[in-house]
Amino acid sequence: MTVYVYDFAQGNKDQKDLLGGKGANLAEMTNLGLPVPPGFTISTDACRAYLAAGTEPAELAEQVTERLSALEETMGRRLGDAADPLLVSVRSGAKFSMPGMMETVLNIGLNDESVHGLARLSGDERFALDSYRRLLSMFGSTVLHIDSEHFSRALDAAKSARGTTADLDLDADDLRALVETFKQIIRDQAGREFPQDAREQLDLAVRAVFNSWNTDRARLYRRRERIPEDLGTAVNVQTMVFGNFGMDSGSGVAFTRDPASGNQGVYGDYLQNAQGEDVVAGIRNTVSLADFEQLDKTSYDDLIAIMAQLENHYRDMCDIEFTVERGKLWMLQTRVGKRTPGAAFRISRHMRDEGLIDADEQLSRVTGPQLASLMFPRFDANAEKTLIATGMNASPGAAVGKVVFDSPTAVAWVERGEDVILVRKETNPSDLAGMVAAQGILTSRGGKTSHAAVVARGMGRTCVCGAEALDVDVEAKVVRVRGGGELREGDVISIDGATGEVFAGAVPVSPSDVVRYFEGEDVDADVVRAVEEVMGHADSRRRMKVRANADTAEDAARARRFGAEGIGLCRTEHMFLGDRRELVEHLIVAEDAAGQEAALDALLPLQRADFAGILEAMDDLPVTIRLIDPPLHEFLPDYTELSVKVALAEAAGGADEHDVRLLDHVRRLHEQNPMLGLRGVRLGIQIPGLFVMQARAILEAAADRIEAGGTPLPEIMVPLVASVRELDVVKRDILAVAEEVQAARGVEIDVKVGTMIELPRAAFLADRIAASAEFFSFGTNDLTQMAWGFSRDDVESAFFSKYFEHGIFDVSPFESLDQRGVGGMVEMGTQKGRATKPDLKVGVCGEHGGDPVSIHFFETVGLDYVSCSPFRVPVARLEAARAVLGTDA
Ligand code: ADP
Ligand code: MG
Ligand code: MG
Repeated sequence: MTVYVYDFAQGNKDQKDLLGGKGANLAEMTNLGLPVPPGFTISTDACRAYLAAGTEPAELAEQVTERLSALEETMGRRLGDAADPLLVSVRSGAKFSMPGMMETVLNIGLNDESVHGLARLSGDERFALDSYRRLLSMFGSTVLHIDSEHFSRALDAAKSARGTTADLDLDADDLRALVETFKQIIRDQAGREFPQDAREQLDLAVRAVFNSWNTDRARLYRRRERIPEDLGTAVNVQTMVFGNFGMDSGSGVAFTRDPASGNQGVYGDYLQNAQGEDVVAGIRNTVSLADFEQLDKTSYDDLIAIMAQLENHYRDMCDIEFTVERGKLWMLQTRVGKRTPGAAFRISRHMRDEGLIDADEQLSRVTGPQLASLMFPRFDANAEKTLIATGMNASPGAAVGKVVFDSPTAVAWVERGEDVILVRKETNPSDLAGMVAAQGILTSRGGKTSHAAVVARGMGRTCVCGAEALDVDVEAKVVRVRGGGELREGDVISIDGATGEVFAGAVPVSPSDVVRYFEGEDVDADVVRAVEEVMGHADSRRRMKVRANADTAEDAARARRFGAEGIGLCRTEHMFLGDRRELVEHLIVAEDAAGQEAALDALLPLQRADFAGILEAMDDLPVTIRLIDPPLHEFLPDYTELSVKVALAEAAGGADEHDVRLLDHVRRLHEQNPMLGLRGVRLGIQIPGLFVMQARAILEAAADRIEAGGTPLPEIMVPLVASVRELDVVKRDILAVAEEVQAARGVEIDVKVGTMIELPRAAFLADRIAASAEFFSFGTNDLTQMAWGFSRDDVESAFFSKYFEHGIFDVSPFESLDQRGVGGMVEMGTQKGRATKPDLKVGVCGEHGGDPVSIHFFETVGLDYVSCSPFRVPVARLEAARAVLGTDA
């Protein structure tokens, strides 16, 4: 027979799956000997059985009866007894605390008879009636689903009839009348009487808790927080204690440390003569724990002692709910408390100093996302601000700049030294240059998975999206603000990507202490010391190396300061843009080999200088340089624009000969699906001189470095290989250049040639490719696109929101690795590669390398390193270590 009901004394804190968080911790406190009102927990098994069958499992009623009898025995009272009633609360409690679950119902067991018993026994009629009216409204709203407004309106009316706004001014007569009003509300709204039978009250409340698992709010929350749908909730039935028993009673909440700052010392609120959530509902002013000490020294001392005991026992900051009944303290809830990122780091350090936890535990107590949030600049908390709109907090940071409405303006203004905020209805791939240039991005449409949000997060740009109070008119270059006012091009605004707030004017920004520390400044702040301590230990614990994706010497240098151990991806395509674009045009329109060579010769010294700077910044560390990857047409003028230009010129008497030729080539190179077209190694095979020129630039730069006394460790990476033959073809040329440069310069260069694994075919045939490759790097962006068969730019804003709605994705596969599908290929590719070459170095580059959940996956697959943007490097260092400990991401 399945056991569905457990006495508090039967459980412990590790049974959250079975008893829910609240139940498990009530059990733990009970077994610690703390003053917990006795009770029992109906397990999540019962809830799951109920949800599956649509009705309670047959054994449940009997098991509840059994436990209830035992409880009645202990308490010496019977539920619903007219003379001396046992009263209980019914409290929901899933494994994870979850908004949307049923609110607690207090005082179950009161009815028209037992309310008199309670009054007689307590000698306090007002108290008994106050308890009853609370039961009626809580039961009415949470179990019978009556809009709670009905009850609060009636309560307000009773108060104003008394000429007061305080619930404490209502006397027994007022409350007696209110009880009748509330019963009438139930009759009117629910079409039934309030159940006078105490057991029926209990059973209905329990069922309501089960049902609340499936409210829309609970569902939405689970989806967002990735909480499985099938956990179910437990239900706690607990003997009532009364904080509303007069001024020597009350209800409170407390933290064993300050959850906002992490400061040592207790922190909390207390409200006299109050029940349940009165203390957090703002119905009267609460007092601090210091004042509570003045009110009731005995209870306060007990509370402090228990808080110390709980902290020692849980070895973590706890949050606590308690009630005082006539000078006696009762514990009603505890759990490990939520805290701000700064508090998490500080508390972890303090607790280690106090000897509560060791270094590994300290590491498990802080997370990459918490570290990331400490790294963003903040608006000065004390500055005066004018809020004009609030959107989604899509990508954190604090950005100030002038409003611009299009990408070219953004780029132009930034070039002349201005900070800009790119403001659009929505963004699309053609806004990319502006997004890169801008300090921040603000859109009036789209959510956290819109193009703007996704791209901004990817490049660490501040972004607020979906600020619907803004009507963005890009044509007229004006933003009309709902509620009045407008913004024009050039007006200064400030956007807070952590809160979604948009402010008029420039709000002062303070740089992150943690970033200043990573940059090498000596910052005297407790949180920085905590970060330093954690990072030191993380570096000693992690197995995987962390590299950075960096394309410039400055980025490489910063990445190194942030702890990068090399470069995992140096993209070379940006080295062909700007002024050099013209040289690429020459290459493409070249009529013959000589013309091509001339163009390549012009590019060579420029590339060499690029690489020399990066190799210098990363001296003695591996630098993986990817040969040019995107389709050539990306470096060419837009086909339509050029056709129009040529057509107009022809109509006017004759087009420029260069333009005509260029148009020819642009037409020839135009592709329906550029992502699947002439790019990567295919381009290298099509125009052999291109890869050779790049390899030569890399090798000559390395030779220069060696001559200057450096230790360059270049790794040449060939993109988009699907067949080992492709790699062989280009590798032969690269090795020939290597021979030639080494001979000519009289140096020996430690260079490796490897490949990206970013096509399913490559993952599948990794054993063959490994025969020719000296290293692998999984390009999980392309691998995701190729595995799913969709291109990121096309699909993200087009249909991802529907996919989230239907639960096909719970997170974008571009943000966090699709472990089963794409991850499966990473795993297979690694295994197959190492089957051929046991010591094959395997890493991952691309956004997933900086995503905590993905990093934990890469640890289990056994990759040698992850590579991510410089700013994410500390996060990756931390998470790579946490992954070794087996901590959840
Ligand atoms: P939540 O999950 O929203 O925190 P709880 O189940 O903790 O809801 O109930 C809210 C409050 O109700 C508690 O903090 C406590 O003050 C009060 N409460 C719950 N059960 C009892 C009880 N048996 N006796 C007295 N007060 C109770
Ligand atoms: Mg609540
Ligand atoms: Mg609670």
